[in-house]
Amino acid sequence: MELFDTHAHVNDEAYDQDREAMLAACFEAGVQYIVCPGVDIETSKSAIAMAAKYPQIYAAVGIHPEEGAPKNESDWDLLDELASQPKVVAIGEIGLDYYNDENCDHDTQKELFIRQLALARKHDLPILIHDREAHGDLMDILCKEGKDNYGILHCYSGSWEMAKELIKHNFYISFAGPVAFKNSKTVKAVAKEVPMDRLLIETDSPYLTPPPFRGKRNDPSKTQYIAEEIGRLKGMEAEEVAKTALENAKRLFKIQ
Ligand SMILES: [Zn+2]
Repeated sequence: MELFDTHAHVNDEAYDQDREAMLAACFEAGVQYIVCPGVDIETSKSAIAMAAKYPQIYAAVGIHPEEGAPKNESDWDLLDELASQPKVVAIGEIGLDYYNDENCDHDTQKELFIRQLALARKHDLPILIHDREAHGDLMDILCKEGKDNYGILHCYSGSWEMAKELIKHNFYISFAGPVAFKNSKTVKAVAKEVPMDRLLIETDSPYLTPPPFRGKRNDPSKTQYIAEEIGRLKGMEAEEVAKTALENAKRLFKIQ
């Protein structure tokens, strides 16, 4: 199966012992493209380094709400510089996380998000959005400050109503492991409804491993299980889901 994993932290320390072999196995299994997001300045740099090393890997740069706002203004200049590096195809992952908010209160998270929306517009790049228990504020921001942004809502966990709004605002809906979890009734129902031209698949590796590997470390080769589950839900061949999702991702990330 030809696969595009739109969100995999292949720069994570979970792969420090066997990264080379893990990636070789993924490419062997049909993974043709991976977008590796940053969550802070360091991981944005390591994502770019991985993209420089592997033709199949592309990078996103950004600061995750869990990490908190940069302490120095110079970090913003650096992020701006990183955003213009070759093979940087998105700003991410960015967004709001009201579940893990010990490091960063809600107002600071909003400010951080809004500033990175502007960065994405400046570079004409799509955004990779992380949203955990912050659906209302996220949609408010996207309707105001983010009305000219576009991109992906990654590892989608919201309602079909919200997905419809996002699709109207030029966003793609990306599904990860949870769509294949037995008890994910809402996510499954949303996946069934999302139009094929707005659907993407991802692993969010090393997290959220889909069945039958739940509990083990995730990797981009598992993207095929997401395609299989969505195929089951939509009554389509998994290959067709994977191929359409791959074409969608190439179009969004402007990959030739
Ligand atoms: Zn992630």
